[in-house]
Amino acid sequence: MSRTTRWLFVVLLFATQQTTADMIALRSEQLIDGRSDKPISNAVVLIDNTTIIAVGQDIDIPPVAKVIDLGFVTLLPGMIEAHAHTMMHEENDYQYTHLKESSAYKTLRSLYALQGLLQAGWTSVRIAGEADVYYGDQAIRQAFDEGYFTGPRLTGAGHYLSITGGGGDINYLSPEQSIVADGYIVNGVAEMREAVRREIKFGSDWIKLLVTGAFMSANDNPRNVHFSEQEVRVAVEEARRHDVPVMAHAHSAEGIKLAVRAGVRSIEHGSFIDDEAIRLMKKNGTFLVPTMYIGDYYLNEITNSPAQQKMIELSRETRPEFFANIGKAIRAGVKVTVGTDLAGMANPSYLAREFAMLIEAGMTPMQAIQAGTRVNAELFGWDDRLGTIEPGRLADIIAVEGDPLTDISALERVVFVMLNGEVVKQP
Ligand SMILES: [Zn+2]
Repeated sequence: MSRTTRWLFVVLLFATQQTTADMIALRSEQLIDGRSDKPISNAVVLIDNTTIIAVGQDIDIPPVAKVIDLGFVTLLPGMIEAHAHTMMHEENDYQYTHLKESSAYKTLRSLYALQGLLQAGWTSVRIAGEADVYYGDQAIRQAFDEGYFTGPRLTGAGHYLSITGGGGDINYLSPEQSIVADGYIVNGVAEMREAVRREIKFGSDWIKLLVTGAFMSANDNPRNVHFSEQEVRVAVEEARRHDVPVMAHAHSAEGIKLAVRAGVRSIEHGSFIDDEAIRLMKKNGTFLVPTMYIGDYYLNEITNSPAQQKMIELSRETRPEFFANIGKAIRAGVKVTVGTDLAGMANPSYLAREFAMLIEAGMTPMQAIQAGTRVNAELFGWDDRLGTIEPGRLADIIAVEGDPLTDISALERVVFVMLNGEVVKQP
């Protein structure tokens, strides 16, 4: 052996030892991989550093691997939340909160909410815009990336873009009050171009548009279309040139169709979707994030909130139609996924109640789990590395007690969380 070869050999040996020291084997009663129709019993997952290298029943566990036997649990891919606003946390007084709190305070609350989501099993989160004039979540993402804090993988929009008087312009104050809106107010194509460029400049990797009126804002109607077709087209065109996708809040069928035709990647809510919109979404491969549980949350958990009366009344009135419409979209094969609209407000474990809503609308429990893992990874453009427990994927893995296929509420009781191969919660 020449000196060079000997030196190389030593380096390689060292590298191998480094890797094997980071090897972990997870054992469990059951495993759902996010892709197969059936679970695997008595499963082993072998993780090397950040990456899954083997999954199955008969896996040879190398002696160097640290074995974590989780017993009577189900292992699943980390849950992926497609519609979060982690800076919003005051459900009773939503119309005014953004006027009372500084951007710095909201950012700290968002950090707290995101850390709670990770402990509840949500390993990736898409922010659907925030009620904040600055870019707090983008700063949090930077701090996560630099290792100052541990939190879910983050993507999303700094703000929701809305027309004057739209869902991003909320408050009950008189016209004499000159105030800063909760969202980013945009009127006309020139302002739209500027807004999209500004969002991207400061770290938004999605653009969020409020294409129709909303449930939670003060004076608008979710059945009305707010942005013009030209405004939406300009937003999509401008974002596309920066490789940034667009998510469109849209309740009315006309708003959904306008946004889908313009080329958005996902429709948020979709409450009054009709057959033509369903066909169009199926044809274009547009994702639908219906955020169904938040209506029940307001109906059942928030009582006596004058500021939220519109949200509560609309949720009660439209629930049967909304669930039937989403059921049609599911049966037609539209890519319906899991997003809650709830992060920051509710107990983090409540977010998993969204899965039960999708099952009520027509999914099987396995379909709902795949929607909240593999399909959301596809929505994010991350399906080459996340969303399933398969060799080659990054190790974002959770465990719940019991069997979520027979009792979906098991997802509210996450006992183990691994993020990027690192254990961040253990029984
Ligand atoms: Zn939202």
